[in-house]
Amino acid sequence: MTRPLMQATYDSTFRSVADALRAGDPLEVAAAALGHVGGTVDGFHRLTGAEVACQAGCSFCCWLRVDVRAHEVLLIRRYLAGDRWVGERGALEAKVRVAGARVAGLTAPAERAAVRQPCALLDHAGCCTVYAVRPAACRRYLSVSVDACEAIWNDGTPPVEPEHPVIAEAGRHAAAGAHNAFVAAGYDGFSYDLMAALAEALEDPECEARWRLKQPAFSGRARSAVPDGFSQEEAVARLRAELAGEGLGEGT
Ligand code: SF4
Ligand code: SF4
Repeated sequence: MTRPLMQATYDSTFRSVADALRAGDPLEVAAAALGHVGGTVDGFHRLTGAEVACQAGCSFCCWLRVDVRAHEVLLIRRYLAGDRWVGERGALEAKVRVAGARVAGLTAPAERAAVRQPCALLDHAGCCTVYAVRPAACRRYLSVSVDACEAIWNDGTPPVEPEHPVIAEAGRHAAAGAHNAFVAAGYDGFSYDLMAALAEALEDPECEARWRLKQPAFSGRARSAVPDGFSQEEAVARLRAELAGEGLGEGT
């Protein structure tokens, strides 16, 4: 029962994003796709009736590493360039640069995990300053237990699994469908560390132009930590081949 539902979630997201990419501005499509991922998570939250502990000001999860796609970084960059920040943008961007410098080039998981810092986009009240454009990873992380989140933040063993299995799977499938539609259309398929990539985005005015030309938007130093022996280049090439051959790819 759950598996067909998850595959349908993946398939419908892939199709709608792929269709939108044929006609629309890709960054606007990326924004809509993120909204779709959030809507899917909310829908499955209602469907399951799960009691979720998340609330504004609760932010243990914002200390976790956040892996993102290039278009998600470009959406945050565009949001930060808006005029809503009056007087605050400089300080916020400085925080991003410091946080990014601490993790740039750390592609080994243990090295990356050793850098313990909150997301630089978190404000003093424990809220996300870019909530409207937060990445899919943040949208789909809902927890059923704040105690579990605090235990993980303390590097301890959580008393229960924080994520609700159905909500987490639905979010994962929707996010994969959106991502794979961008990959199938030829866009940057690498996974990036949010802080490292956003710091690069703030320094490099050409990052969006590269992305629109379907080139990697950011450098290898901004890429996510991966297990030993895993190659992002090979994984992205395999995924492109699979998507080209079969159209949709796999949601699992
Ligand atoms: S995921 Fe955990 S830490 Fe984050 S808002 Fe929800 S309960 Fe709080
Ligand atoms: S982008 Fe926002 S929600 Fe995501 S980790 Fe950073 S502060 Fe938290």
